[in-house]
Parts: sequence; C-alpha cells; structure tokens
Amino acid sequence: RGTVVLAATPIGNTADASARLVALLEHADIVAAEDTRRLYALANRLGVHVGGSVVAYHDHNEREKADGLLDRVEAGATVLVVSDAGMPTINDPGLTVVRRAIERGLPVTCAPGPSAVLDALALSGLPTDRFCYEGFLPRKHAERMQYLRAMRGERRTMVFYETLHRIAESMDDLLEAFGPDRRMALCRELTKDYEQVRRGTIAEIRDGVAADPPRGEMVLVVAGASDEEAQAAAPAALSVEDLAVLAV
Ligand code: SAM
Repeated sequence: RGTVVLAATPIGNTADASARLVALLEHADIVAAEDTRRLYALANRLGVHVGGSVVAYHDHNEREKADGLLDRVEAGATVLVVSDAGMPTINDPGLTVVRRAIERGLPVTCAPGPSAVLDALALSGLPTDRFCYEGFLPRKHAERMQYLRAMRGERRTMVFYETLHRIAESMDDLLEAFGPDRRMALCRELTKDYEQVRRGTIAEIRDGVAADPPRGEMVLVVAGASDEEAQAAAPAALSVEDLAVLAV
C-alpha cells in the first residue's frame, strides 16, 4: 500500500517550501493539486521537476476524485495533496480524501508547513495558549452580526480569514459586536515583501482601515472576552440559591 501525503505549500514566500515538499513533488506518483497551473508555477519557482502525474483536486470534484486517488494508494502509490497556498484542508480542499482514507484504513500523513492561521496568531501578540480558528466570516451583514454576537463571550483568541472586499464592513461589525476597546491585529501579505501587521484596539484598526484600506490577503486576530465581557455575554447562570430551591 502507498500513502496519502498532505503537504503545505508557501503562502507567499517561495523559500518557505520545505525540503520534504520539494522531495514529494519530485517523487510522488500522483500530485492532486487544487489548481494544476499554480502547482506547475510553484514547481517552476522551486526549480523542481514534478515526476508523477498531476490531477486537479478541488472543492467541486473532491467527492468524485477521492476514491479514485485512494484506489491508487491501495495499489501502492504515494498521492501528494496540495492546495494553492498553505495547509490543505484549512479552508482548502483535502478533507474528503483524508476522511475516505481513514474509512478505508489507508495511511495518511502530513508534511506540515506554512499556514496563515498560525503565522497571524503568532505575530498578533495576543494570547496563543487557547485560540479558535473561525475561517471566513459570513458574507452577509445580518448573518455576520448574528454570528459575531454569538461570539461575544468567547474567551479564546479568535482567528478570522478576510478578504479586501469585505474588510471595511467586517471591521464595522466587529466594532458593533465586541465594542471599540478589544485588542486585535490585522495581518496582511504574510511572508511577502509587503507584509504588514496592524495592532491596536478594534476602533483603531477600524479607523485605520477606513483611512488606508489594506490590500492583499489578510487575517484578523481578535482577543477573547475578558472575565467581565464573558459574564455579560453568558446567559444568566443559576445561583447556588436557585439550585438549592430546584433540589427541594
Ligand atoms: N490553506 C490556507 C492556509 O493554510 O492558510 C488558507 C486558504 S484560504 C482559501 C485563503 C485565505 O487565507 C486568504 O483569504 C487569507 O485570509 C488567508 N491567507 C492566505 N495567505 C495569506 C497571506 N500570505 N497573508 C495573509 N493572509 C493569508
């Protein structure tokens, strides 16, 4: 039997490609890539010859492709799974092949590397001991507000992916949901030449976004709720007296 190998690819800086990724690109029997042109462009920048066959494996064909790839693994092939940037499965294709491999009892491993989640979290300066990754916020204002309001009492540092098209609206909504004073970081163009991290309160970052709209790819990292904020957001808890009454 072969193996499924998920491999992280650079999120901006080609030099972040691991030696293991390079070797896998050269030697894997099959490379399942989110976008085959982007895979070849990366291989080109790395000066690597992709040795195996390359197949498109993206959100729209994951289900149909996964079992065929796994049949090849069963027959002994090494199947490398890569997305356009960062870690496969993190807001990117890959999860279906992992799940199906587990179901079929086939080996899966990972060649880890860059991912914008951990890069932004580490650079934010906010607590890293407990955090939650929230992916992209809902697109529509009403859903986004509902979602953010439900997170008011979240104690962990929160990591959101965001796009330049929605950043201004999302900052308004973050301010409305969490108030002006929570600390946050807006991390953009990570690992690239124009990497920038803006740190401050939600109000400060919101004003900065309005005055100087950030371009490129970005991640928002927002501090978790303080004790008081968490308490204010929690549904009224039963007191010891209440419990004593209920116990009677
Ligand atoms: N799989 C990727 C990962 O592990 O980070 C994430 C893919 S997701 C489709 C793309 C989003 O990741 C972008 O919209 C942005 O929020 C974030 N992202 C990716 N690369 C980034 C970078 N260099 N700087 C800041 N954010 C980045």
